[in-house]
This record gives sequence, C-alpha cells and structure tokens, in this order.
Amino acid sequence: MTAKTISKPTVNISAHKLLINNEWVDSQSAQTFATVNPSTEEVITEVAAAGAEDIDRAVVAARNAFESGEWPQMAASTRGQLLQKLADLIELHADELARLETLDNGKPLQESMNVDLPLAIACYRYYAGWADKIHGKTIPVEAPFFCYTRHEPMGVVGQIIPWNFPLVMQAWKLAPALATGNTVVLKPSTFTPLTALRVGELIIEAGFPPGVVNILPGYGSTAGVAIAQHRDIDKVAFTGSTEVGHQIMAAAAKSNLKRVTLELGGKSPNIVFADADMDSAIATAHLGLFLNQGQCCTAGSRLFVEASNYDEFVARSVEKAQQRVVGDPFNQQTEQGPQVSQAQFDKVMHYIETGMREGAQLMCGGNRVGDRGYFIEPTVFANVQDQMTIAQHEIFGPVMSILPFKDIDEVVQRANATEYGLAAAVWTQDIAKAHAIAHRLRAGTVWVNCYDVFNSAAPFGGFKQSGIGRELGEYGLQQYTEVKTVMVKL
Ligand code: NAD
Ligand code: MG
Repeated sequence: MTAKTISKPTVNISAHKLLINNEWVDSQSAQTFATVNPSTEEVITEVAAAGAEDIDRAVVAARNAFESGEWPQMAASTRGQLLQKLADLIELHADELARLETLDNGKPLQESMNVDLPLAIACYRYYAGWADKIHGKTIPVEAPFFCYTRHEPMGVVGQIIPWNFPLVMQAWKLAPALATGNTVVLKPSTFTPLTALRVGELIIEAGFPPGVVNILPGYGSTAGVAIAQHRDIDKVAFTGSTEVGHQIMAAAAKSNLKRVTLELGGKSPNIVFADADMDSAIATAHLGLFLNQGQCCTAGSRLFVEASNYDEFVARSVEKAQQRVVGDPFNQQTEQGPQVSQAQFDKVMHYIETGMREGAQLMCGGNRVGDRGYFIEPTVFANVQDQMTIAQHEIFGPVMSILPFKDIDEVVQRANATEYGLAAAVWTQDIAKAHAIAHRLRAGTVWVNCYDVFNSAAPFGGFKQSGIGRELGEYGLQQYTEVKTVMVKL
C-alpha cells in the first residue's frame, strides 16, 4: 500500500462554465475556482464560480421557461421522451463520464462504471416512465359539485448536491423534477463539478428547451445560500450535511416558505446476530462501510455484532480491511481511492486520533497512504463504546467501528439512540426476528441480510435529523408537485 503510480488519464474537459438558458457563460464577477484531482492534489481545471447575481439570472431563465415557451405546453409523454433521450446519451458516453467522475472525485473507475453510471441512467429511465402517469383523482362530493385534483409542478426548483456521488445525486434530483414539469437551478459541489456540467451538454443535445435546466457550480456560502434564500424559487432540494440542512431550512423559513426536502447525514447501525450467514455478513459489512472510501451517507458505521461471534467477526473484518487494495483509482485492481479533499482527509484523520485517545482499540490502519493524494488506510476499531465520538459522529471515511451486544432489546435501544435515522441493517436467518427488528428500527431504510441495495423504484430518505421527505420511487414525485383541488358546480 505504499508506492503509488498515479496514471495521467486522458479526459477531455469541454464544459467548465455556467449553464444558463442553454448557453455556457462566465460568472458575472468572472470568478473561478479550481477543481482538484484528489489522487495527485493537482488542479484539473478552473471552473466558473456562480455568485448570487448569476443565480438570479438563472432563476429568471427558469421562471420564463416554466411560464412560457415550449415546456409548459409540452405533452407529458414528450417530457418522458426527453428524459429517455438524456439517459441514452449518458449511456453512450458512459465511459467518458466514468473517467471524468473518477478524475474529479477519486472513486475507483470500476465503481464509477459499475455503480454510479448504472444507478444514474436507471433513475432517468425510471422517471421518464412516470412523466405521463402523474395524475390526480376524481372525488365523490355532494351534488351538485364535481371535484377533482391535479398534481401540478411546483415551479422553479433549486437543487444543491454533494460531492460523494455527483452523477447519481444529479439524477435523483433532476429526473423527478423534470418528469413532473418543473424547471431547475442546480448547484453541484465545488469539489466535483465536472460530470454535472458534461451532463449539461448532453441535456442541450437531448433537446430540452432553454431555461428548463440551469447548472451553476459555486460555493455553498455564496451560490448555495443564494438558492436557499431566493424569493422566486418555489422549492429547494438538498443533499449534504445535517448542519447545512438546518441552514437551508432556516433560509427557506425566512424568505418565502419554499418547500424543502433534505437528505442528510447518518450513523447507520448494522446489526449482526449470531445466527446470520457469517461469510455474507462479514463481506457485506465491509462494503457497507468502505464503499466509496467510506463517503456514503448510509455507511454502516456502527457495526453491532452479537457477543458470541464478536472476536471471530472482528478478526475476519480486520483481515479483509488489510487486504483492501488502496491506490490509483484508474487502476483496475484498486478498491479504494483517495478521500475527496484535504478537508475530508484532515477530518477523518482527526476522528482516528480521537478514537485512539478515547480508548477504542485500533486493530488495523489509521495512517496515511503515500505522501501525495488524500489516501487513508482502511481502519478498524474494536471495543468501541456507544458514547465515544467515533460511535456518535458521522466520520465519512474508511473507519469501521465494531461494537458487541448481548440481546435484542438492548441492541434495538442502542441502535436507535442517535439523532440520525437514515438507514439500518439486520443480519439473521430468523425471518420473524428480522421483520420484528426492521419494524422497531427508526430509520428510512432497513436492509435485511443485505446492505446498500438501491433501486429507483424504492423510496429513500431519513427519519429524525437524517432528513425530510423521500427521494426515488412514486414517493419522490410527491416532493415535486402541488395538489390543486378543482370544485365545479354542475
Ligand atoms: P456540505 O453540506 O457543506 O455540502 C453539500 C452541498 O451544500 C455542497 O454543494 C455545498 O456547496 C452546499 N452548501 C454548503 N453550505 C451551504 C449553505 N450554507 N447553503 C447552501 N448550500 C450550501 O457538505 P461538505 O462540507 O461537503 O461535507 C461535510 C460533511 O457533510 C461530510 O463530512 C459528511 O458528513 C456530510 N455529507 C453528507 C452527504 C450525504 O450524502 N448525506 C454528502 C456529502 C457530505
Ligand atoms: Mg475534484
């Protein structure tokens, strides 16, 4: 895990400006920011940085597109066809997009190809199918009245996405918003703006009318705040930290009561009973934590293992972590690339120090890999106590904490003793026990004998401080429509 030769990938970067009204423009301040390759710490390219005045311009374009022109006149089925066309174009350019994602984010190319691209494409296709199947009800009220409902688009939607799954998060945001007929101002993260912009080129190529999708990279403190506070944005959808989620909701409350959906952090319990298929539980718990360099909101970062199997589980998990191949994400063999940024690297290293200081037992890892790029060894802590910082805070890095437990009531109580409630998992061959625990866990998704299984049709989101609202599936559509009641006197 020491000598790393980082390849110089050949990726053509054509889009690095703001997309407003189907035109590529500089920011009005002419400000740019550098996006960095986290494997080498080198600047990839400068990208236009949107300010509040650029967000204003994009909102005007989105408002015009929502109210006049082709979009509001378009048949719902035609909207669906545009989304299908976009999915086709992303598939056609999957190789290029996967390389661009790996270059900008650092995730292994194998994962970009086999996880991110298929999930993003499937999401556009899923919502393309919904476009002409969104309708209200006729409601039997007393004569002489005829009552029906319409599910209308909300209007101009602001969308703010993070850096951990840039293409997937863009798809989860754009696809339901467009299927339901909204127009969008989307802000990618400054750490990973490149694939969102390339998809912007494909959106134009697919034939979306001007102003329907506007893409403006920029800092959270400027462009992000401008979206959250904007009085002519009808709804904001955000994925990122719980801390910023609070700020978005406060800004929405203070401005115009725009609708808010939030997909925030987690500290997900993964509970393994002694009667589980141990091989499968150990292999899947490994991926459930280390996938994407540990930068997953669903990361199974509180791994509860029944006491009778604890020592064996820890030993085999350590072995797996030590075998994990860390290095150049463009290398076919690589399983783990760098953390996305210096800030994330520093934060994760700080949590590892804190874990050791508070008395958790470091079983493997804990160090930087190499001296260039933000690589961290897969790290496993045993004998972690519930009150320790590493058992309470979202680490967002390759750090596994394994905690022993004795009985069902105890582990359910401990699993739920967190401000988060995004996901959870339970491992057992006892089907009654599995369902009973699935019902008692306070989390938006519970996986039984699996982990991180996502499907465009299955809703995803958080209980408690892990968020508000749901993405994906039919539930995801409700977050992008207003219900209108029409009452007619006959
Ligand atoms: P963040 O919440 O600061 O950033 C997410 C997005 O919000 C980015 O596009 C950012 O530019 C924007 N943003 C930041 N401040 C904003 C503000 N005040 N108003 C509007 N938009 C704003 O996340 P981060 O700093 O990149 O990462 C910090 C932590 O967040 C991570 O360590 C992790 O715990 C968590 N995180 C969670 C997810 C997730 O999928 N739930 C994704 C990324 C990060
Ligand atoms: Mg980058």
